[in-house]
Order: sequence, then C-alpha cells, then structure tokens
Amino acid sequence: MRIILFGPPGAGKGTQALILSEKYGIPHISTGDMFRQAVKDHTAMGLEAREYMDKGELVPDVVTISIVHDRLILEDCTTKGFVLDGFPRTIEQAKALDRMLDEINEPLDAVIQIDVDAEILIRRLSGRWTCTNCGALFNTHYNRSKQDGVCDQCGGPLFQRDDDKEETIRNRVNVYEQRTKAVIDFYSSHQLLIPIDGDQKIEKVTETIAEALR
Ligand code: ADP
Ligand code: ADP
Ligand code: ZN
Repeated sequence: MRIILFGPPGAGKGTQALILSEKYGIPHISTGDMFRQAVKDHTAMGLEAREYMDKGELVPDVVTISIVHDRLILEDCTTKGFVLDGFPRTIEQAKALDRMLDEINEPLDAVIQIDVDAEILIRRLSGRWTCTNCGALFNTHYNRSKQDGVCDQCGGPLFQRDDDKEETIRNRVNVYEQRTKAVIDFYSSHQLLIPIDGDQKIEKVTETIAEALR
C-alpha cells in the first residue's frame, strides 16, 4: 500500500502514520523525523535544514526531494509500499514524487487529507510531547501520558520540539496556507484525494481512514 498523509501541522499525520504503519506493515516515512535525525547527527544536511526548521519555514525542495528519493528506492518501500507523512509540501515536491513513483513503477493508492481548524492546530502543537525513544506522541490537552514526561508505550523520556513554540507554530500554519495547501488541487485533479475530518478522537480518525482505504 502506498499512501500519503496530508494536512497542516498538528493535523495528526504523525499519530496516524505510526498506527497505519503498524496496522498495514508498511514503512513510515516522515521528512520531519528525517530532518530532526540529521540535526541530531550534526550532518551538513541537518545543519542546513535546521535554519529553516527553527523559523518554521520549509527546507528547500532540492534537499527534501533528494532525501525522499534516496529513501523510496530502498527495498522495504519498493516491496511493501509506504505511508508518507509530511511530504509532499509543495507542488514541486508533488511533481517530483510522481516522477519517482513512475521510475519504480509504483503508483499512489490514496492521498488522505486530514482537515482540522487552525485554532485547534495551535492548541494541539503547543501541547505536543514526543517520546525520545520510540516517537510516540502525547498531548497535555488531549491525550496526556499516564505519567508526566514518561512514554506510555516504552517508558522513554518525552520532549517538546523546539519548533513547537507559539510564534513558530503560527508561522508554520501560515506556510501551510500559503505554500502547501495548493498540493490539494494537484491531487484532486488526479482523483486520489480522500478528505477526512481530523477533529475526532484519534481512534475514530484511524477508523475513518481504514474505511476509506477499503
Ligand atoms: P509537523 O508534524 O508539525 O507538521 P514536521 O515534523 O512534519 O512538522 O516538519 C518539521 C519541519 O521540518 C517543518 O516545519 C519544515 O521546516 C521541515 N520539513 C518537514 N517536511 C518538509 C517538507 N516536505 N518540505 C520542506 N520542509 C519540510
Ligand atoms: P502532525 O504530524 O500532523 O503535525 P501529530 O500527529 O504530531 O500531528 O499531532 C499533533 C499533536 O496533537 C500531538 O500532541 C498529538 O498527540 C495530538 N493529536 C493527534 N491527533 C489528535 C486527535 N485526533 N485529537 C486530539 N489530539 C490529537
Ligand atoms: Zn516511547
């Protein structure tokens, strides 16, 4: 299965991608996670990406397209498919993805568009906590971990992302409106788009997606 989870920051892409990746046994590819790993590893690419991430801007297309390309041609993706989380975020990226999938002869099955209102996004992002160890997501307003600062799944320590501060959050939501939203039109003309109401309980969103994919 080859699917894209599309939506604004805070829509629940990462949360749903983790669940779907497990459910369908497909690799979870998150460009945000890849960039954060590169920053942690102090690679040249990480250093460059960080400048944009800190401001809530998009990392340039050439860099982003190249890391996704290098990942999609690996065997687990060519045999099992993937759930893409946070890519594509520009029309250029969407076009490049089309070319990559043509190259490996693997068309997309669906683009799940998760809709959530801007005010809720800001509240979700400001309350987001992530597990350092397994990547599980929690939220101080919506789904708290049982013990503050500790992951329910693996007991690892939770952290708050540097770019989840009020000012950067607002910029990311603006960047979504100005640059990323246009990708919806690109996919609707391909008849691949499945809009989903993201303002429901996490399990309900998963159910709605699974039904749509059936
Ligand atoms: P969120 O989960 O809040 O949507 P991500 O973890 O997907 O955020 O991305 C974090 C940051 O990484 C983005 O603000 C951006 O700087 C960079 N980034 C991630 N994916 C892309 C992409 N496809 N194109 C450009 N920049 C990206
Ligand atoms: P994205 O990857 O789209 O930026 P995340 O999956 O990281 O979004 O979710 C953002 C925050 O909102 C996280 O703290 C997560 O626990 C929480 N969250 C995700 N889905 C829901 C939901 N359906 N209802 C309430 N909170 C949610
Ligand atoms: Zn964990």
